[in-house]
Amino acid sequence: MMHMQQQYQQQKHLQSIHVETSTKEVQTSLTMEGIENLEKKATSCLEEKDVMLETLNAKVKETQNQLQKQSEQLAKCLAMNKSLLLEKSQQEKKLIRKASMENRLKLGQFNTQRQGAQFVESWKDGYAFTDIFRQQERLAQERDEIDRQKKLLTKRKPHLQGAQSNAKANSVPQLSAQAYYEQDEILKLRLQALKKEEADLQVELEKLERSRNLHIRELKRIHNEDLSRFKDNPVLHKRYLLLKLLGKGGFSEVHKGFDLEEQRYVACKIHQLNKDWKEDKKANYIKHALREYEIHKSLDHNRIVKLFDVFEIDSNSFCTVLEYCDGKDLDFYLKQTKLIPEKEARSIMIQTVRALQYLNERKPPIIHYDLKPGNILLSSGTTSGEIKITDFGLSKIMDEENFDHNEGGMDLTSQGAGTYWYLPPECFVVGKGPPKISSKVDVWSIGVIFYQCLYGKKPFGHNLSQASILEQNTILKATVVQFPSKPPVSQEAKDFVRRCLEYKKDNRIDVLRLARDPYLMPPSRKATPTNNSHTMMPPPSSSSSLSLSGS
Ligand code: AMP
Repeated sequence: MMHMQQQYQQQKHLQSIHVETSTKEVQTSLTMEGIENLEKKATSCLEEKDVMLETLNAKVKETQNQLQKQSEQLAKCLAMNKSLLLEKSQQEKKLIRKASMENRLKLGQFNTQRQGAQFVESWKDGYAFTDIFRQQERLAQERDEIDRQKKLLTKRKPHLQGAQSNAKANSVPQLSAQAYYEQDEILKLRLQALKKEEADLQVELEKLERSRNLHIRELKRIHNEDLSRFKDNPVLHKRYLLLKLLGKGGFSEVHKGFDLEEQRYVACKIHQLNKDWKEDKKANYIKHALREYEIHKSLDHNRIVKLFDVFEIDSNSFCTVLEYCDGKDLDFYLKQTKLIPEKEARSIMIQTVRALQYLNERKPPIIHYDLKPGNILLSSGTTSGEIKITDFGLSKIMDEENFDHNEGGMDLTSQGAGTYWYLPPECFVVGKGPPKISSKVDVWSIGVIFYQCLYGKKPFGHNLSQASILEQNTILKATVVQFPSKPPVSQEAKDFVRRCLEYKKDNRIDVLRLARDPYLMPPSRKATPTNNSHTMMPPPSSSSSLSLSGS
């Protein structure tokens, strides 16, 4: 209807032009026929446009419908994605719990016992250990039996001629040389077989002990997961779906999560402030965490775990979202294997030092201050893959205003924090003012971690607690590093450790020189025209001996 009206109007308009032009004939060269043609053209042009407009309108509508459909489909995909993730997480949780229940019988469990008015938890090994202990007992009995028979046989040993009267006195019938030899050989072979069985059993026991450690860790994790307020897979900040508790620290829980927006796994570290803390303590904790966030979020390096996001959960908790590293940390790995081959340990050092180099080439440079196996994440879950360093909670910014060039360091304002086995002597010095520190703190930590990887124990205070290290001034006395004879380790590796564990920080190699250390260089770059092998290269700080006395 509208369309017809429009056409009528247009025709009237054209007629008026026609009348106008016909009255002003002298002003145009157009004939009536020409004008009519023009009229026709204009009309059909308008009609075409109308049709085009209609087609376009239809197309827009269709596209809008498609878009609507696609966004509905996307929403469905996301919902399905989320429910599949949840289902997978639930199934995994069930399987883990089932395996853990079975392991309680096999590997052991905590039992709560009453002792007077108190309940105490004690550990009881499972049947796999009882089996091994029984076998060990049987082997011990067999050994006793072989010893007894060996003694008997010795008494019946054929004597040299001069000793015969003595044998007669003992009245033990002697064996012929052939019979004695035969019996002796049998006993020797039995002993050999027994020793092999004992060694195999020992290997089995060690394997079982490692499984028990894993099982205990898993039991604790499950216990903490069940107590966590985030155990029911909530979605935080409208995008992070929590799937599983990875671990729990003093004031934080790390959950494996899934970022529904970016469609990737993440690690959500939830910092929980204690409700009973005074406001200034809470404020201090938040200040600290925000500093960590500020430092960490600006870092962009393939050997450093990326920090994606931070948000508040409620007035007492907030969450930092980190790049997810599938695989355990080096601390977990070392607890399993005790030590790792030098080649793999060296590869970890090369990668860690690369991260430190990045931290030191920044302006201002950053001291990590808490480098330890627990903060080195193994992306592949093994020590032969890529690593990433994490946890910048104690990091320090070495800005010009804080750095004293005469003293070669900045004030250590947080003395007492950190993990003492990995901190250098200067962090323990107590004097008038706070000690001066630099990024050489991280160099010392590198030396300790490398030593621990190579020998399966820490170089200083291995069996001591944090408190005992402080009480006994263990690190202040750490002037000399001792290398066990086993396992065999290359001289170059030992020299590298020595360079890192140089007692006085002024003599210790710095991070940038460490990054060029011959031990970490590719083989082709180790050889120089003057030094054909890298054992011949003078280590950067070899001039200072390790027997320097401590302050
Ligand atoms: P933390 O509280 O930092 O010691 O971490 C607790 C647990 O979470 C440890 O088992 C870590 O290996 C694990 N974890 C920490 N950060 C990450 C991450 N970015 N990706 C995967 N696991 C992590």
